[in-house]
Amino acid sequence: MTSVLVVNSGSSSFKYQLIDADDERRLASGLVERIGEPTGHATHDVPDGHWERSLEIPDHTAGFGVMLDAFREHGPSLETHPPIAVGHRVVHGGARFFEPTLVTPLVLINIEDLSDLAPLHNPANVEGIKAAKKAFPELPHVAVFDTAFHQTMAPDAYTYAIDAELASRLRIRRYGFHGTSHKYVSGAAARFLQRPLGELKQFVLHLGNGASMTAVDGGRSVDTSMGLTPLEGLVMGTRSGDVDPAVLIYLQRKTRIGPDDLDDLLNQRSGLLGLSGRKDMRDVIRAADDGDESARLALEVYLHRIRHYIGAYTFELGRVDDIVFTAGVGENSAEIRARSLAGLEHHGIEVDPDRNDSRVGGVRVISTDASRVTVLVVPTDEELEIARQTLSVVG
Ligand code: AMP
Repeated sequence: MTSVLVVNSGSSSFKYQLIDADDERRLASGLVERIGEPTGHATHDVPDGHWERSLEIPDHTAGFGVMLDAFREHGPSLETHPPIAVGHRVVHGGARFFEPTLVTPLVLINIEDLSDLAPLHNPANVEGIKAAKKAFPELPHVAVFDTAFHQTMAPDAYTYAIDAELASRLRIRRYGFHGTSHKYVSGAAARFLQRPLGELKQFVLHLGNGASMTAVDGGRSVDTSMGLTPLEGLVMGTRSGDVDPAVLIYLQRKTRIGPDDLDDLLNQRSGLLGLSGRKDMRDVIRAADDGDESARLALEVYLHRIRHYIGAYTFELGRVDDIVFTAGVGENSAEIRARSLAGLEHHGIEVDPDRNDSRVGGVRVISTDASRVTVLVVPTDEELEIARQTLSVVG
């Protein structure tokens, strides 16, 4: 009855899941948040119960104490389901980490060193790892990187055409993100289709609050829409995705905006929010249906960008066997799926309206039987993928 503990740390919170190492059942999940604020908050969920607590949680180490209390009081017992390893989500692995990696002091230094590339995420991930190591000093800790899956991209796909010396010195290149999700859903699609992953050409649309698209050839990422940071590519809830880089230079010259404000503008105040004043796709769709012009345009820009990448990746792959939709919007919005692929019948892509509208859960096909390209919805499960990759390291 062994298990794996999966941890995803932010700067003032962390999420956890305890996953059975044999049958991959979710034994418990929880969220410890508002760490460092006067009143922190913790939730703990097991299949037949939900608990909440409000108390001061000064730091991540105290947060893991709160988590351990929850396991002791509400189960499952960590004695009867002992974790054999802790798997940590780490956002940026740079070009150094291309697979899940056992955390050693040197690995931790390397993750810290990559903080320049992910200043909001890597320091928080490191803090979570350090606190988790204090809570579970005997266990192996494994770092699973969001960027690792994309390390198979070839130089022509990951290189930006800027001064080569500067780019090399500052490690500027495309890294790509959401890799754990893209790997999980592309593998799950192959298993569902009962086809060897190695012979499939597919693309994955991870459409959540953050959104990215990846071309996957034989189980390897060959191109992805996010870049040096998770800002490039598709239009997202609050992120702009692609813009002409000269827009930023123009803005700096015209408004004297500084780097922090520019970062905030493009990451927090753009995308669907910047265009329509709403960042939640459900609100945008509702407003567009009610005739709101800005919401209608936001939707059209969002879809235009998706179709732009569908075209690009179709040509890069040369042939497409299947297209996979995942994450909040991809799994739940029949309208976005249908409009993303509308009018592509002569490219062999034909969505079946009834299958697309069906609310059945789990992996499902939404294309017609006649469609040459199979279109699927695959619910993503990053925690399970992290647990699997963690086990692959510790054996
Ligand atoms: P995620 O980041 O994967 O949790 O996805 C969050 C996004 O999914 C939010 O923008 C939600 O609006 C969106 N979402 C969730 N359910 C639906 C739905 N039924 N229709 C459209 N968007 C949805």
